[in-house]
Amino acid sequence: MSINKFNCKSCGAEVDETSYETFEGMHWLCFHLIFEHMGDPDEPCESRQCPIWHLKILKEHIEKSGQDVDEIINTTVEKHWQQSKNT
Ligand SMILES: [Zn+2]
Ligand SMILES: [Zn+2]
Repeated sequence: MSINKFNCKSCGAEVDETSYETFEGMHWLCFHLIFEHMGDPDEPCESRQCPIWHLKILKEHIEKSGQDVDEIINTTVEKHWQQSKNT
């Protein structure tokens, strides 16, 4: 009945065993930022898996369809905030 707990070697937060074994004892994102993501972590990198890049693709896609990305995010954050205040 022993449950092994693993903590990420990069950020220190709990990480599941599969990620721990696959990504050098880290979360995938922590691994990506340390070993694959070169340069500014706020800017997309060359990796096709890069989540920063994926976000940028989505934002551009949404903007092209004529919607305001910042407005969508702000509205959702505010809604979420109002809901969590009631709990
Ligand atoms: Zn981590
Ligand atoms: Zn990246």
